[in-house]
Amino acid sequence: MNKPAQSVDAHSVMFITPRPELMMVEGKCSWLTDNNGKRYLDFLQGWAVNCLGHSNPGMIEALNVQAKKLINPSPAFYNEPMIRLSNLLTNNSCFNKVFFANSGAEANEGAIKLARKWGQLHKSGAFEIITFDHSFHGRTLATMSASGKPGWDTMFAPQVAGFPKAELNDLESVKKLVTEQTVAVMLEPVQGEGGVIPTTKEFMQGLRQFTRENNILLIVDEVQAGCGRTGKLFAHQHYDIEPDIMTLGKGIGGGVPLAALMATDAVACFVPGDQGGTYNGNPLMTAVGISVIEQLLAPGFLESVRAKGELLSQELLSISAEFNLQGERGEGLLRALILSSDIGGKLVELARDRNPEGLLINSPRPNLLRFMPALNVSDDEIRQMCNILRELLKEVT
Ligand SMILES: *Cc1c(COP(=O)(O)O)cnc(C)c1O
Repeated sequence: MNKPAQSVDAHSVMFITPRPELMMVEGKCSWLTDNNGKRYLDFLQGWAVNCLGHSNPGMIEALNVQAKKLINPSPAFYNEPMIRLSNLLTNNSCFNKVFFANSGAEANEGAIKLARKWGQLHKSGAFEIITFDHSFHGRTLATMSASGKPGWDTMFAPQVAGFPKAELNDLESVKKLVTEQTVAVMLEPVQGEGGVIPTTKEFMQGLRQFTRENNILLIVDEVQAGCGRTGKLFAHQHYDIEPDIMTLGKGIGGGVPLAALMATDAVACFVPGDQGGTYNGNPLMTAVGISVIEQLLAPGFLESVRAKGELLSQELLSISAEFNLQGERGEGLLRALILSSDIGGKLVELARDRNPEGLLINSPRPNLLRFMPALNVSDDEIRQMCNILRELLKEVT
């Protein structure tokens, strides 16, 4: 560890975000190792992506077996993993049909298209989709317009019209925006990038009832909150509701590019020519998806996510009390600690740069820290992470 740090020459990599002068070279469960041999306790996991941690053996096996068998027959043909994963997802949800994509944004684009198509067929061309302040749905032109980040709907103008914004957990604010053109309401059951803000049960159930009564579709974006993250296979299951459309991303691939658009039979109205994509349902990625979902559904697994979420919550609450912070919130293993001042960014850097072992966390708002560890993180690692936090908070407060 006393060797001088190796420098990183990344001049040919397009600049899109500041990155620290290091490269990640290896991962195992909840730990990452960089090019200098330094280890990091990873509570980011590729942005809530690696739900089974780094280098999960089941995923590696699925990749190896499928790579030797068939990587890509083209989307013009069915393949076995595509069908098996579709069945697995529909058998464990209220949806009947699945379209696989490569990213969350692409799945959400598909959801927007499907809702608009349904509006053309069943609602005289209604096309508006009500979304929410502070929501995040992706970085394509349409999903940026759908997102509730200030300025995102015009950043690359002209962008896609038809996404009025309501306030989360305020049903009246939704009702006020409804017009003849309204075809759907789209929301994250727990806003992730917005700062880990759960939707209340009262709001979600009220929204489902209201949308049903008014012939409006309900779309849940579970790219971040789905696939076991909140302690249930799908986050909307906490609310005892059945949406019409759901999108999955991140966790469904456990780290590989895989996403899904799911819909009920009543809503799945694409006809040939409407939807596609070169890699949709390719067997290499869907084989990994099968391994991921089967591991999430293994007896006791989701229960253990809920128990670990409870442990993390309790630990964060005691940290909050010890340091006079503003509490914590979240669901399962998607949680945030609310700070008393805007020191989130500083803490993220200090955590990463500490020695001998770093800690990877994230600050989606300046006064907030977000935690999205592997769903199989150990209790010890949760306590270790919290003790590092205590150490850092002593340093800065
Ligand atoms: C990350 C995220 C997306 C976008 O997913 P990509 O795979 O980055 O395109 C969409 N919705 C939510 C809720 C997300 O957290």
